Amino acid sequence: MLLIVIVPVFNEEDGLVELHERLGAVLDRIDMRGEILFVNDGSSDRSLSVIQELSEKDQRVSYVALSRNFGKEAALSAGLDHADGDAVVIIDADLQDPPELIPEMVRLWREGYDNVYGQRMERLGEGFFKKFTAKYFYRLMARVGRFSIPKDAGDFRLLSRRAVLALRSLPESNRFMKGLFAWIGYRQIALPYSRDPRYAGKTKFDYWKLWNFALDGITSFTTLPLKIASYVGVLLSLGSFCYGAVIIAKTLLFGDPVRGYPSLMAVVLFLGGIQLLFMGAIGEYLGRMFDETKRRPLYLVDVYKSCFSEKGMAAEFPSKGR
Ligand code: UDP
Ligand code: MG
Repeated sequence: MLLIVIVPVFNEEDGLVELHERLGAVLDRIDMRGEILFVNDGSSDRSLSVIQELSEKDQRVSYVALSRNFGKEAALSAGLDHADGDAVVIIDADLQDPPELIPEMVRLWREGYDNVYGQRMERLGEGFFKKFTAKYFYRLMARVGRFSIPKDAGDFRLLSRRAVLALRSLPESNRFMKGLFAWIGYRQIALPYSRDPRYAGKTKFDYWKLWNFALDGITSFTTLPLKIASYVGVLLSLGSFCYGAVIIAKTLLFGDPVRGYPSLMAVVLFLGGIQLLFMGAIGEYLGRMFDETKRRPLYLVDVYKSCFSEKGMAAEFPSKGR
């Protein structure tokens, strides 16, 4: 039995040795073979050389280095594509998710769960605004999706082999992983934990990235904004029809003095605003359709070294994605 721990890494040079230490200690404790698969997502610092040193020293360490920074979702997809284990754990490189939880995840997996996800009860060392927006984003997603996406669950989780195969088979380029983990279904269970502050370095997600991440999540799992557009359209048309009728009646009864500039402006601006807003919503979907139709690979691999091969090899096939 083989457990592979996937670690996406983007500029995490200062935390990797500590992570390797704690993770290694945990893997020693579980009664199955454990390996670590680092996915270097185009780091511009020394992360890759640190990973290479670790893999020289430790037989259990493999790595995939992507050809540039593709973002965390793509890095995770690359990890899943290269992790042929009986079970796979995904964990952040910054030690915000405690590796010591892995034995418990393995225990639940042995009980027959396919998807054991960490559920954050507390988030230490993160700002109020991030916690607040994250909380309400997860609640919103939980309500609007066509299936339920667990609240406060991140990427930290254990997946069974069939769950990994299911994820690999998904064809989309827009990979909102938290949604996809829920979409595949199977037997899922939450494992509550408290999220630690970062061990070293800074978060890679500023608010603009988080906003776009939220848009990706919403557009890939619900068409609710488009529906809202239709219903607001229906209501506005009904309202306009009534208002029009009132104006016609008034003109017929009382004649037509030139008045009503303010109301005219208000109506024009209001309708213009609403139209642009909903065109923007349609645009968000259209833009993502454009990305999907290009069918580009999700990532390109620069170097791949597995535990079994002696040296790092330039990837023969540029990508295993798709
Ligand atoms: N990460 C990545 N590619 C990116 C951004 C982040 O692989 O483009 C990795 C990062 O190295 C870390 C994990 O994703 O292991 C989570 O990132 P971070 O801690 O910055 O996110 P936060 O915990 O603040 O949400
Ligand atoms: Mg983090």
